[in-house]
Amino acid sequence: MADAPRSLTNPYSLSDDDGYFWIRGNLHCHTTNSDGRVDPQERLDQYVAQGYDFLCLSDHRKITPVSSVNVPGDFVLIEGAELHPSNPFGGQVHHFVCLNIHEDMACGTMPPQHVIDNVNEQGGQVWLAHPHWSSINIMRDTLPLKGFTGIEVFNSTCRFMGRGEGSVHWDDWMSLEDSVYPCLANDDTHGAPEDNRDTYESWTMARVKERTTEAVLEALATGASYGTTGPEIHSIEVAPDGSEAHVKCSEARRIHAVQDAYGAEYREGGELFTEATVTLRKNAKWVRFEIIGPTGDKAWSNPFDLR
Ligand SMILES: [Zn+2]
Ligand SMILES: [Zn+2]
Repeated sequence: MADAPRSLTNPYSLSDDDGYFWIRGNLHCHTTNSDGRVDPQERLDQYVAQGYDFLCLSDHRKITPVSSVNVPGDFVLIEGAELHPSNPFGGQVHHFVCLNIHEDMACGTMPPQHVIDNVNEQGGQVWLAHPHWSSINIMRDTLPLKGFTGIEVFNSTCRFMGRGEGSVHWDDWMSLEDSVYPCLANDDTHGAPEDNRDTYESWTMARVKERTTEAVLEALATGASYGTTGPEIHSIEVAPDGSEAHVKCSEARRIHAVQDAYGAEYREGGELFTEATVTLRKNAKWVRFEIIGPTGDKAWSNPFDLR
């Protein structure tokens, strides 16, 4: 059974005048507590030094406690883990990025729904990680489960296997459930910064009023956020009748308006632009936007429910 359609928050309706601001983070990385190359303190320090605002040390099957590292100033370190319940539906073992959990569980021997329920009972969030890399079939592996917060639309380390982007799974899932889900873009960092491989390649921007775990979690769950490998999305206004959208962004070469069926493209020949009015297909259920930057880097907005 699918949940009822949810409604997400347009982050661009949250005004600077009301105290909202953007912060940048990575919700998926590994340390020497699982198969990462650097220890937890070094992993934290590298993202702090790079100017990030929030991070989750999401080791495989094991919580790396926030209390085990020195967290500087107002940096937001979210406790969590990547959990791998068995997959009784025929596909590969599950990969769930679980945020804000504080008690380990024997996830390897638990049915996936029990893991999801346990995380939610702890006040946490379950994100479907890198579905393309995991060879996830949404109909077979994901649809029987309830209680997800959203999906990882991009994963930097999976890009090296040609399976970094999960947007087709995202669209498929929203179509099958007739609902909308928010996204994350994450490094899934395993290497050291000097490996120059899976660090600082993609990140999630969250719209918050304060630098706390609670504020970041709320922004992610309500979709007051976007994922990116570079481009910035400065504002999106969708006309009340769903006929068009006005987008402001960093320099872009193209914008894709992806809808529940089909979609639209905006471009100005080969010229770069920072503002666009995109014509949308009529009577769509939802629309999400992809901003393509000058070098092919991409940003993914969350979906706007048009119903
Ligand atoms: Zn994984
Ligand atoms: Zn991972």
